[in-house]
Formats: sequence, C-alpha cells, structure tokens
Amino acid sequence: MTEHVDAVVVGAGVVGLACARALARAGKETIILERHGAFGTETSARNSEVIHAGIYYPAGSFKASLCVAGRKQLYDYCEQYGVAHSRCGKLIVATSAEQDAKLVDIQQRAVANGVTDLCFLTAAEAMTLEPELHCTSALLSPSTGIVDSHGLMLALLGDAERHGAVLAVQSPLVSAAVRDDGIEIVAGGESSTTLLADIVINSAGLSAPAVAGLIDGLPQALVPRPYLAKGNYFSLAGRSPFSHLIYPVPEAGGLGVHLTLDLGGQARFGPDVEWIDEIDYHVAPERCQRFYGAIRKYWPRLSDDALQPAYSGIRPKIAGPNEIDADFLIQGPAAHGIPGLVNLFGIESPGLTSCLSIAEAVCKSLDPEL
Ligand SMILES: Cc1cc2nc3c(=O)[nH]c(=O)nc-3n(C[C@H](O)[C@H](O)[C@H](O)COP(=O)(O)OP(=O)(O)OC[C@H]3O[C@@H](n4cnc5c(N)ncnc54)[C@H](O)[C@@H]3O)c2cc1C
Repeated sequence: MTEHVDAVVVGAGVVGLACARALARAGKETIILERHGAFGTETSARNSEVIHAGIYYPAGSFKASLCVAGRKQLYDYCEQYGVAHSRCGKLIVATSAEQDAKLVDIQQRAVANGVTDLCFLTAAEAMTLEPELHCTSALLSPSTGIVDSHGLMLALLGDAERHGAVLAVQSPLVSAAVRDDGIEIVAGGESSTTLLADIVINSAGLSAPAVAGLIDGLPQALVPRPYLAKGNYFSLAGRSPFSHLIYPVPEAGGLGVHLTLDLGGQARFGPDVEWIDEIDYHVAPERCQRFYGAIRKYWPRLSDDALQPAYSGIRPKIAGPNEIDADFLIQGPAAHGIPGLVNLFGIESPGLTSCLSIAEAVCKSLDPEL
C-alpha cells in the first residue's frame, strides 16, 4: 500500500535535519529516511565543528552567501535552543612575506562576502594573544566559533519532531520514480514501505549522487560525478596551549592543517586532503609526519610524539583534484523540471555552518512563499 505524505527528506545529517525542521515548521507532514540506526553518523559527525565566518569563498557563491547568513542564524539558534557553542575566534596566520600578501587578498575577499570584522595583527600582536605562535602577521576573525554538532542535530530533530516530523531509521531509500501525482519513494529496511510525496529532498551527503541515480524520471545527465576527499585529524595529547583556532593560509582542496578546539579545550589538527576512491575512515598513523611539518611552520615548539591519530571525515566533492572547487549545488525544479524535488550535491564545508540557510534556500527553490 502506498501512503501519501507531504515531504520526504532522505538523510538525517545536519542538513537533512535542518530541511526537515523547516518543512515541518511550514506545516508539511515530513518523514526523514535514514539508512543507519541513528541520525548524524556520517559527515555531520566527522568534521571540525567550526562555525565559519564566510571568509574564503568566491563572492556571489552559495558557499559565501549561505555561510554568512547561516552563521548568524546558527549563533541565534544555539542561543535560543541551548546548543553548546563558543565564539572563540580564529587567527589566520602568515609565516612568510609571500603569505603576508595573501592575507590582504583574504581580507578583501572577506569584505566582498560581507565579513567586515576581520582585523590585521602584527606578528607581535598575534604572539601577545597566543604566546606559543610563530607568524609574520595574522588576521583575527572574531566571529568564527565552534559548536557541538551532535547537540545541534539533537535540537534540530527535536524541533522538527515537535512540528510533527518523524525520523525513520534503518530506512534506506532503495528506489524512487517521478509520477504525475508526486514522487514515489520505496524505503527498504526490515519491511519495505512505499510513500508518495509531494516534496522530496535528497540530502544524502556522500551518497546524494547515488540516491539521485535511483530516481527514475530525473535526467541522469544532471547528476554530478562524486569525488571523495578525505580529511584526516590528529589530536594533541594534553591541554591546548592555544585559545583561538589557528589556520594557516589555505591550500588547494581544503583550508590547510589547522588547529581547532573542542568545547572542552582539547586541540586537534587537520583535516588534510587525501583523494580516495572508496569510503574508508581509517587514519594512517604515518600521515602524522606531514602534520608535524605543516604545524611547526606556525607552532615550532610542537614536541615529537605529541600527535595521535584521531578520526577522519570525507568531503562530498563534485569537482575533482585538478578542478576548481565547486559551489554547493542546490538543484531544484528550476534546474530539472520535476515539481517538489531538490537534490543537494557537494555539501562540504561550510555545510554545518550553513545548515539553516541551506534549508531556507531549499524551501525557496520549491516555493518562494515557503
Ligand atoms: C573533514 C571535514 C571537515 C569539515 N569541517 C566543517 C566545519 O568545520 N564547519 C562547517 O561548517 N562544515 C564543515 N564540514 C562540512 C559539514 O560537515 C557538512 O557540510 C555537513 O555535515 C553535511 O551534512 P549532510 O546532512 O549534507 O550530510 P551527512 O551528514 O553525510 O548526512 C547524510 C545522511 O544521509 C544518509 N543516507 C545516505 N544514503 C541514504 C539512503 N539511500 N537512504 C537514507 N539515508 C541515506 C547517511 O546515512 C547520512 O546520515 C566539514 C566536512 C568534512 C568532510
């Protein structure tokens, strides 16, 4: 038997949960399908937990606009719902004359994105703030922070459920078909269920292209090729000597081996960029050698054997290693012509920061009044 439902969200990561919350709050009867036994066990649980200011992204991109808007919404949301977070600030540090010049470019790009609170520090000013730091100059971003990503997802789910949404775990989408009266979804698991939905949001993260590939009626030429860029983390034994997040000048494919803090004040370094063909979260201990080299450029006193393999996450890229980074791809009816369907592709960083603004953009792509 086919059950009718207003909306199905595929994937219970932070973005899927934010979409489900927005739809439920708009009065839509919403079911969230999650293939695992719990929400948020993939990329949303394997990241740096940084609330990004919106500094680096190309002006006019979704990454820039949704990060800046989403950061403000996220801080407000965390305040309102008691989600643990800290506006700890971050330093972007130059360690050569060439990088000093790059900081000027970074600041100009930030201003173009509407991030106007960055402030230049001399080496002496930066090292007064962080005595262990070595740099030639730095940019201070006071609006960068950190958030408890699990607490955030719990709050989003609770909010969605209060507005009638239902999370179905162990319920992978196994097939879908576009019909005249909606989109038919078949969810597997212990018993198979068929749903007919007016709205389907494909928020399956790393698997979003694969899920799109299962939708009969979606032109497959519109489904981007997925690429996997793993980011490995190493944690620091003992307490962090730094109170700000410390970022080097960015490198191709990622933001460079940076120091982030958790809310307990423990430091971790990463993520690096390792292009892979299959999902594999193992962190190879020998990769730490590159970390020592990268970190000692800005923290020369890092002692030998201080780093331990921690965890990894995988960026759901839609551009390959030798291509220009792609923007978030929010593919709604205007792109594929199917009423009610939105595919979310390439939702890598700053997807956590932008979860609330992405959800808003998803709703607007379906109906400007939503
Ligand atoms: C190394 C790394 C560091 C990052 N650091 C930051 C950061 O500091 N700040 C920031 O803003 N962003 C960061 N990000 C980005 C951020 O983590 C992601 O953008 C965000 O978590 C994506 O959430 P999601 O809901 O789209 O995907 P996911 O969390 O991956 O959720 C997708 C869900 O879909 C489910 N699913 C898949 N297939 C199916 C199916 N067929 N049926 C049902 N369910 C299915 C999966 O099980 C999963 O639960 C980082 C990402 C990485 C990889």
